[in-house]
Amino acid sequence: MSKKTAEEKQEERKRKRQARLQKHIVTCPHCGEDALDHMTKCPHCGGELTPSGYKPMDEEKRKKIQRISLIVGAAAAVVIAVLIFVLK
Ligand SMILES: [Zn+2]
Repeated sequence: MSKKTAEEKQEERKRKRQARLQKHIVTCPHCGEDALDHMTKCPHCGGELTPSGYKPMDEEKRKKIQRISLIVGAAAAVVIAVLIFVLK
């Protein structure tokens, strides 16, 4: 029966973590350095990157969110105004 030493276990964990990280590494098309796949800018040259899995929001959805945040913002402003008026 072979039991792994704590050191071996740690080494294995480190390897696994590195393997996981490797999956998220992309090569910058501008300078060829490594960058992470969620980055929009290369940390080495500042060049623009297209994050994998990144989809630009469609216009309709963007407008909807903008409208909702505007309504929520206005409602919050009204509530604050009323509170200030009432608490005076
Ligand atoms: Zn770069």
